[in-house]
Amino acid sequence: ENLTNQIAAGEVIERPASVVKELVENAIDAQATRIRVEVKKSGLLEVAVQDNGTGIAPDQIDLAFMRHATSKIANEHDLFNIATLGFRGEALASIAAVAHVEILTSTDGQLGTRAGFAGGAKTFQEDAGSAKGTKITVRDLFYNTPARLKYLKSPRTELMKIVDIVNRIALGHPEISLTLTSEGKVLLRTSGNGNLQQDVANIYGRKVAEQMVKIESEDPDFTVYGLVSKPELSRSSRNFISILLNGRYIKNYALASALLDGYGTKLSGKKYPIAVVAIEADPLLVDVNVHPTKEEVRLSKEKELSRLLTSAVTDALLAGEEDPLFRL
Ligand code: ADP
Ligand code: MG
Repeated sequence: ENLTNQIAAGEVIERPASVVKELVENAIDAQATRIRVEVKKSGLLEVAVQDNGTGIAPDQIDLAFMRHATSKIANEHDLFNIATLGFRGEALASIAAVAHVEILTSTDGQLGTRAGFAGGAKTFQEDAGSAKGTKITVRDLFYNTPARLKYLKSPRTELMKIVDIVNRIALGHPEISLTLTSEGKVLLRTSGNGNLQQDVANIYGRKVAEQMVKIESEDPDFTVYGLVSKPELSRSSRNFISILLNGRYIKNYALASALLDGYGTKLSGKKYPIAVVAIEADPLLVDVNVHPTKEEVRLSKEKELSRLLTSAVTDALLAGEEDPLFRL
């Protein structure tokens, strides 16, 4: 119970894109190598996420949908040593409270389970054949919380937020094949073959990908890896900067600034690079338990990491001036 109290409760699900983010992160936590995301009506009619991960055993279904039930931390020590993306055990419970949810899952690819939830309660559970992995379908989001619906932006904007989060997760996981479709139309498909530059080409275009330089650096606490644009390629918005910490997309102002510092005076005024930066850190240095949606992260040794990132960018841009561009 103490553990439960240590986990701050909060609103996890603000909009369709939150559903997509939580379900995809769960799939990644379940070691999926292939993840399909399908949305209808900007995710308000339906979000379906299918993975080829571990699956959930029949007797674990209730637990998975229970608030504060997580298979990912067993004790208070684990709470400060979090390697997986999820750990609060809030997402599925929160989603099931504000939508109609159906799950089809199997741990062995033969016998599996189908179950439904509505308004936070289970409506049925039965045996069902299924491929190994999990498919969770979320329908009629916010059907019982009309106030939430009022806060949403236009369908177009909500869809863009879904595209944005899937793109960023894809960039953070070139080793996972991710597909996003909307109304049956493919908006993103990554190969999962581990080639970050190819994924950048997929998402931002081939021209952009060819103008990126590789950054790679480490110290005893952190490794930094990614692609950053040459100064000529800058954009007038910060939105093209993606920073991933231990595989999770994060927002961190200090690190974004450190990245910009690496450009020195090469970027004029209100210009920002296109960048994908994956940071690996000892989970003990990361306090993810700050914000319910976990995008805001507190870091020990943030100054050291900032310096590492800045110099990695500076070095890469210098090397990029000398070397011919690497090709896809
Ligand atoms: P958390 O991710 O914080 O543990 P969630 O509510 O997101 O909490 O998920 C609850 C639990 O359900 C997870 O701990 C995991 O055991 C199980 N689970 C959820 N999604 C999947 C999935 N796609 N594959 C396998 N297990 C899953
Ligand atoms: Mg989760």
